[in-house]
Amino acid sequence: MGLHVLKFGGTSVGSLKRLERVADIVTTRAKTHQVVVVLSAMSGETDGLIELAHHFTKSPNSRELDVLLTVGEQKSVALFSICLSARGIKARSLLGSQVSIRTSNDHTCARIENISTKSILEFLNAGEIIVVPGFQGVTVEGEITTLGRGGSDTTAVALAAALKADVCDIYTDVEGVFTTDPNIEPKAKKLSYITYDEMLELASLGAKVLQTRSVEFAKKYKVPVHVRSTFKDVEGTWVLEESKLMESLVVSGITYTKNEAKIVVEDMPDRVGIAADLFTRIGEAGVMVDVIVQNVSKDGTTDISFTVPRSDMKRAIDVVNQSKDILKHGRVVGDDRISKVSVIGNGMRSHAGVAAKMFQVLAREGINLQMISTSEIKISCVVDEKYTELAVRVLHDCFGLDKIDAREVNDFK
Ligand code: ASP
Ligand code: MG
Repeated sequence: MGLHVLKFGGTSVGSLKRLERVADIVTTRAKTHQVVVVLSAMSGETDGLIELAHHFTKSPNSRELDVLLTVGEQKSVALFSICLSARGIKARSLLGSQVSIRTSNDHTCARIENISTKSILEFLNAGEIIVVPGFQGVTVEGEITTLGRGGSDTTAVALAAALKADVCDIYTDVEGVFTTDPNIEPKAKKLSYITYDEMLELASLGAKVLQTRSVEFAKKYKVPVHVRSTFKDVEGTWVLEESKLMESLVVSGITYTKNEAKIVVEDMPDRVGIAADLFTRIGEAGVMVDVIVQNVSKDGTTDISFTVPRSDMKRAIDVVNQSKDILKHGRVVGDDRISKVSVIGNGMRSHAGVAAKMFQVLAREGINLQMISTSEIKISCVVDEKYTELAVRVLHDCFGLDKIDAREVNDFK
């Protein structure tokens, strides 16, 4: 009898009726497998708790905020265990501290360091279904922590890794991972599988299906993850190791994010160490930098452009301006009306020409590329925000993503 971890997101547990639906899925699975269930807070619950805290202050104490936020998941697991017991099924909730899921003490964004599986295994072996709240952990000192928004995914995958589960099912309100956002391109197709690396790029580039940390865990411990719908009983998208796949798609997805802003620092003296100076200051201000482009120098000066989260644009510009004596730069110009459109595909590792095709297609539509960045399996272009939807659609079309077939996955189970 294998062990499966089943995680249900906020909308999946969003009402009592939906909890009954989840109970149906879990009891069916429990006939053939040992089951550990991980639940999110009911949809809207975590936001509601944050709002309550904000009634008193915009920056609540993070330790207390964690105590508050864990309430949402706690309510879900207690209710769900009561629901299963009422059906005569042996179920037991175990909180983060009871499992225990040990984390760092970075309140509101803690990292899982260790999971002890002893108590879970004991109860599983006694024939119980174990129900664990997502998103929460405990420090060595016994302090309650949370793992950052969307952290229940990470709880589920980390538990699956620690318990050496055969599968981690992520049940959600969409059918799987799509080739792009179906709200922008209705011809978007569900992918039958995707590699961990592709999923990492997709997750960090704006596809909101999985928390990025959860994919890092899945990759590190080779946990097969199945993203699927709670409401429709069909195969979703498998997230797997590359070696499990028959073939890789050259391009498997198009993503976009509109949450970055571009800053151009003009006329910096082109001397050794200037970029180090600039980005050290920005880093020390706690601003994360994404794409960086440095122009060729002209008359001993150069422009450096970079992107930062939109909400940090003003702060980053202030930091640069305050360093004018050292950086000796010219104007600093911010633009928060940009978006980053990306093409992702594992097959890019071995196929040339993807970048050229992407640039040609965007040029044909008159879309100017303001910045470009690449990794082994991704090409991102920063463009004017107003072209986002158009860019996504023409790229989806030119890489033939509306025509891909559901392909076979090797027998990995
Ligand atoms: N309830 C938390 C959130 O809304 C964690 C999660 O659902 O994954 O972010
Ligand atoms: Mg989520």
